[in-house]
Amino acid sequence: MYYNCHIHIFKDTDVPNRFLPLALVNILRSTVGYGVITKILKNIIPFTDKDMFDRYVKFITTGKLGSQQKIFEKCRDFYPDDTKFIVLPMDMAYMHAGKVPRPYKQQLEELYNVSQTYPQVIPFVHVDPRREGILDLLKECVEDWNFKGVKLYPPLGYFPYDPDLDPIYEYCQEKNLPLLTHCSPFNPVHFKGRKRDLKKLLEKSIDHIDTRKKSKKELCSRFTYPGNFKHVVKKFPKLRICFGHFGSQYYWDKFIHHPGEKDNWMRVIRDMCIKYDNFYTDISFTMADMKYFSLLKVLLADQKLRKKILFGSDYYMVEVESNERRFGLDLRAYLGEDYFNSIAIENPKVFLG
Ligand SMILES: [Zn+2]
Repeated sequence: MYYNCHIHIFKDTDVPNRFLPLALVNILRSTVGYGVITKILKNIIPFTDKDMFDRYVKFITTGKLGSQQKIFEKCRDFYPDDTKFIVLPMDMAYMHAGKVPRPYKQQLEELYNVSQTYPQVIPFVHVDPRREGILDLLKECVEDWNFKGVKLYPPLGYFPYDPDLDPIYEYCQEKNLPLLTHCSPFNPVHFKGRKRDLKKLLEKSIDHIDTRKKSKKELCSRFTYPGNFKHVVKKFPKLRICFGHFGSQYYWDKFIHHPGEKDNWMRVIRDMCIKYDNFYTDISFTMADMKYFSLLKVLLADQKLRKKILFGSDYYMVEVESNERRFGLDLRAYLGEDYFNSIAIENPKVFLG
């Protein structure tokens, strides 16, 4: 039985109105405008943005399927029948990208219902420390609805060592709940408020941050820098943490060309996974490009690291949708059964506790 440790099935109504540029969310959300507008926009959008645009269209197309169950069923079809899925919801109410059409709790409740219909769904709770009553909501999800872990998404505007997260971490330790955090830089999904407000949020940083001449995207990466978690484990040494995306394709590329660069996130994550017993990383999104398979295989030759890497795809955030099945197959064939079983069976079981 395999595990895909990183998928998303949230709906378009869980996404704030200004989540995508060019008011695309509103345009694409309306059923009337959808078909016509995508065709027109595809022709007028400058060539360089076309790839990005195609991704947005795919993103919205899947998000519009109508229910989390339908989105899940589409994903499930790409994998062997007995595959289990860690499903990561998103609370995007505090990223200053406009109003989220439906309340976060409804997303969680719907996800709970999906997990009742499909026991192979392993639901996590996305925790944004700015949400009022988030600890109670987490407890309700875990104790009444059997949710199995916590997801963080720091680029939305918080540091993982934010003291407001302490009660969450305490609870995770007490209940033996794993935590999965988004960990790639320069992500288009980040805090969208004014720069002035962003600088305020960055003032909570433990390390000094030079904000001059930096884009919001660059600055938001500071929230999610993997080294931030060193401060977290000092206080919560029993916490099991998985770094999503293993530093991203950006840092994998850099590593291939300049392996000596010390601030490379991929290196930082690799070294922390070796040093800290409770640190893990997943390969979702990053492995969507086959050109990274060989480096992954080389990394798996390290006995310690081999126990720390988890299989995940980041469905439906990534352009592997049509070949999501191929992705699983190709990677499995490339790595061989032993390595693949480590990342898709053994390690996920240990991570989930
Ligand atoms: Zn993801």
